[in-house]
Amino acid sequence: MKLYNTLTRQEEELDFNKQDINMYVCGVTPYSSSHIGHAMSTVVFDVLRRYLEFKGFKVNHIQNFTDVDDKMIQAAKKLDMSTADLANNNIESFLNEMALLNNLPAQLYPRATEEIEKIIEIIESLISKGLAYHNKDGVYFRVEKVLDYGKLSRRTLKDMISGSRIEIDQNKENSMDFALWKSEKPGEPSWDSPWGKGRPGWHIECSAMSIKYLGNSIDIHGGGLDLIFPHHENEIVQSESFTGEIPFSKIWVHNGLLRMGSDKMSKSVGNIVLIRDVLDKFSTNAIRMFILSSHYRSPLEYNEDQIKSKEISIKKLTKLLENTGGKVDFDQISYVCQIRQEQFINAMDDDLNTPRAIATIFDLHKDLTRLSSEGIDIAAGQDLLNRLSDILGLDLKNKNIEYNQDEFLEPLMKILTNIRSELRNKKEFELADKIRFDLYNIGINLEDSLEGTNWNIIDN
Ligand SMILES: [Zn+2]
Repeated sequence: MKLYNTLTRQEEELDFNKQDINMYVCGVTPYSSSHIGHAMSTVVFDVLRRYLEFKGFKVNHIQNFTDVDDKMIQAAKKLDMSTADLANNNIESFLNEMALLNNLPAQLYPRATEEIEKIIEIIESLISKGLAYHNKDGVYFRVEKVLDYGKLSRRTLKDMISGSRIEIDQNKENSMDFALWKSEKPGEPSWDSPWGKGRPGWHIECSAMSIKYLGNSIDIHGGGLDLIFPHHENEIVQSESFTGEIPFSKIWVHNGLLRMGSDKMSKSVGNIVLIRDVLDKFSTNAIRMFILSSHYRSPLEYNEDQIKSKEISIKKLTKLLENTGGKVDFDQISYVCQIRQEQFINAMDDDLNTPRAIATIFDLHKDLTRLSSEGIDIAAGQDLLNRLSDILGLDLKNKNIEYNQDEFLEPLMKILTNIRSELRNKKEFELADKIRFDLYNIGINLEDSLEGTNWNIIDN
C-alpha cells in the first residue's frame, strides 16, 4: 500500500515488516461541541485503520484530548465551571458522536492533564541538552539550535519569522521559540513543576503521549492539514531532540479541511455545523459516504444536498441485499467478485483512494443486479458487498442507522394522529389519551389545536 507522506512530499510504500502498526492521531480540544470538520478527520483515520486491519495488521491507535489550553480556560470561565468539568462533558459527547459515526474507538484517549509527569521529564531533558530555556513566562524551545527545524512544513526560520504575526517578545531569545511550559497566571489551572506552578504548552503533550504509549519512533502520525505548522513541526523537533531517534514518525498523514462555501469551517468565522445536528438529519452511512466520496487530501465542501443523495445511493445497496435465491453459477459470481475485490484493493492501496473504492462498490452492485435479474444466486456477491462496505465503515446490515428516521417518523405520526382524531370524534377519549400518553413516554409531544394535532420531539 502507498500513502502520501507530508514529510517527503511523495507517496511511499508501507513496507512495515511487522505485525503492529503504531498510529497517533491528534485529537480535539474539548472546549465546545465538535463540528463536522472533526467528523471528517476521524472518519478518514478510521478508514485508514480499518483498511490496515483488513490487510492483516494490528493497529495501535492513540488519540489525545487537549484538555487544558487558552480556549479551554476561556470557555470554562464563560460557563462558570472548571476546565476539568468542561472537558469531561465535551469528551463524553465526543465519544458518543464517534460511536454514532461508526468510528472504531482508539485503544487509548490520553489527556494532557494526566500526562504532566512525562511532559516534565521531556522538558527537563531538553533544558539539560541546552535546547530549552526558562524565563519568567515559562520554558521555551530554542529553535535556532536545531538545524533541520522546519523540515515538515519546508520553511526556513527566516520564512517563518517573516510569515508569522507573532509580536516580538522581549523575553524570548528568538520570536519563533515556542512554549513547552507556561507559568501560572491568576485563576488558571496549574500543576507543580521544577519551574514553579504552570501548565504545559500545546505541542509537548503529543510528543509525551506518542513516546510514552507508542515508542520513540512510530509508523503513522495523523491530523488535519492545519496542524502541519506549527503543531507537528514542533512535535518533531522536541521529540527527536529528546529521544535522539529519527524519524519521530515514519509517515505523516494529513487530511484536507472541510469548507463552508469558500471558507474554512471554524468557530471564529461562525460557520460551524455540529456533528450532532448532522447526525439528526442524516444517516451515518450517508454522512460517511459523503466524506469518503472525496479524496482525503482534498478539501471537502459541506453540502447537504449531496449527503441527501448519498441516502439514495445507500438504499440502492441495502435493497440489493434483500434479493435471495436463484440458481447457482459459481463461475460467473466468483469472476465478478474477484475482479471487483481486486479493483477495490488497488484503489485503497493507492493512497487510500476512497472515491475509486466507492465507485467499485457500485460497479459490483451493477454486476450483481444483472446476475440477479438473470435468476442467478448472488449470495457470495452480497457477502463481498458487505465486507467491502465494512472497510469504509458503512454498515449495510444495520437498518437502524441505515434509514433516516425522520423519513419514517413523518408518515407514521400522520397515521397515529389521524387515528387519534377519529377516536376523539367518536368520543373514545380514553384510548385517544392513551396514545398521547404512550407517545409522551417515548419523547413525542402532541399539541391539539383547532387546526388539528401537531407533534414535536421533546428536547431533553
Ligand atoms: Zn498533536
